[in-house]
Amino acid sequence: MKSALFKTSFFVFICVCGFSWGYFSPNKKINKLEMSSQDPSSTNSFDVLPCPTEQEYAELAARVSLKIPDGPAVCDSSYRAKIGKALLYMTRLKMNPPATWLSDVQPDFADLLSFVAKNSRHMDLDLDQAGSIAYNNTVEQKIYIGAYFFGMDPLSAISTLIHEARHSVKTASGHVQCEGGDIPRSQGGCDQAFEITAKDAGAYSYEVLWMSGLGLYGLNIPEADREFLKSSALTTLATRFNEIPAELAKKADVLMALNKQGDLLIVDPVTKKFSPVKIKFPFAEEKISRIEFSFRTSGVMIFTNQGHLYSWTFRSGLQFYNDGVIPASMPIHDASRIMLPGSNNRTTFTVQTDNNTYMMASLPQGRTKMEMVKILSDEDMKKAPQFRRYFLAQYGDSIFLTEAGELYMLTHEIVADPMFKKAEGLQDPQGWQQGTGGVIYEDLILLNKSGALKIAESHYQEIDDNTSITTYTMKEKDFRIPGRGVKYFQGLKYEAQMNDRGDMYLRKYGTTEQLEVKGNEIVDFTIIHNPVLGRSVVPR
Ligand SMILES: [Zn+2]
Repeated sequence: MKSALFKTSFFVFICVCGFSWGYFSPNKKINKLEMSSQDPSSTNSFDVLPCPTEQEYAELAARVSLKIPDGPAVCDSSYRAKIGKALLYMTRLKMNPPATWLSDVQPDFADLLSFVAKNSRHMDLDLDQAGSIAYNNTVEQKIYIGAYFFGMDPLSAISTLIHEARHSVKTASGHVQCEGGDIPRSQGGCDQAFEITAKDAGAYSYEVLWMSGLGLYGLNIPEADREFLKSSALTTLATRFNEIPAELAKKADVLMALNKQGDLLIVDPVTKKFSPVKIKFPFAEEKISRIEFSFRTSGVMIFTNQGHLYSWTFRSGLQFYNDGVIPASMPIHDASRIMLPGSNNRTTFTVQTDNNTYMMASLPQGRTKMEMVKILSDEDMKKAPQFRRYFLAQYGDSIFLTEAGELYMLTHEIVADPMFKKAEGLQDPQGWQQGTGGVIYEDLILLNKSGALKIAESHYQEIDDNTSITTYTMKEKDFRIPGRGVKYFQGLKYEAQMNDRGDMYLRKYGTTEQLEVKGNEIVDFTIIHNPVLGRSVVPR
């Protein structure tokens, strides 16, 4: 049970934030592409932050035990200058919350540099750690900053420093494997529970607390940066914890549909009401061609006729997916977070572009800006069939479907020939048209081209200490709908299926009663997770 402190002190955050993003009204202006870091009033960019003087820099670095990176003392976008800018910015980020707001945590946030200083005995760069933002060797309280840190915006970078510093606190909860969220099935990517005390709160909890505190009570923070902080806090809250207190985040399933005209609709399956979402694309003649669930924002992932990828949520409206990393000139046909070969229990966001090519964002050696790179060599892809769809499924298996509906799995090994293997026992005589790994990627559910819904069962067999085999069988899933099913998807409490006439059927897990939503020329649907809504759009 949570203490009274929890209910009273945190309530303020939920009320204020909950209002700004959770309040649902179809008439509300939701296109917020302009609300990005390019907002003229935002100071959240390394380009606009001032550098400390050399004397100031030396003092700041001494306080947090930073070994100042080598390089000329110029105020540019080098590693040396960026850390200096971040430290100086930290001394200026102040908040003035009510005394009742997390009174034991407040002192840490009142003076960020002191907080980091008391939890860092040594701070240095470690650019060899590919893919790492930062880490803390907690035994010695040594914080190492990785190359990815320099590709972030200043507020996120500072939030990362707070996160790493928090790891030095021995009573703070450590990380566990994520069940779902934006980096599903990633080892050490999540906190088990959201905590709010100076004693227990894990590193992700501390990030959420700091971002929400600064967003709400920060002094001299531009409005755009407040929005950014609150939105980041809520995204982290919704995605980086395996258990979230019900009082904090009452996540609800929201059924979203796409009609023949290309309109995005919020569907109330009880009243059968369809509420259109106003979306204004930045390009002329742009139309939605397909929608999926966005694991990154818990909202809608939007594919368009111009090959662009967007995300839409109640709180942020429409935004480019991976803004600034995926160039608008790169056509995107599909996107998924999958487990790459040799990635050792971590998942990576990838996109499918032209010519059966799969890309991911990566930070080239010595650079401070992310670029898109191929996930596999051309040699490896030459041996692969042409794929139509792909997604993450049970226990980190990355599933790829061909046009004919054959199922391939991407290997987990670093070196394999071929990299994609046609999985025995997971094929269907009709061919598969669509599938999902479920909300926490513990299942593999596939719909064949005749509309039969099937679930994979795996049998793991140990041969000896070094060898094991997993065999798969497909079993019919008990969820039949009228007509031919063309898409199946799972929400938090509901599962849904659509037939080729565009009729949707919703069912609460464990029940057989189905809600039917017909008409409106629906061509696609998905289920998003909305942390809080002003009114329920799903049945109780
Ligand atoms: Zn951590």
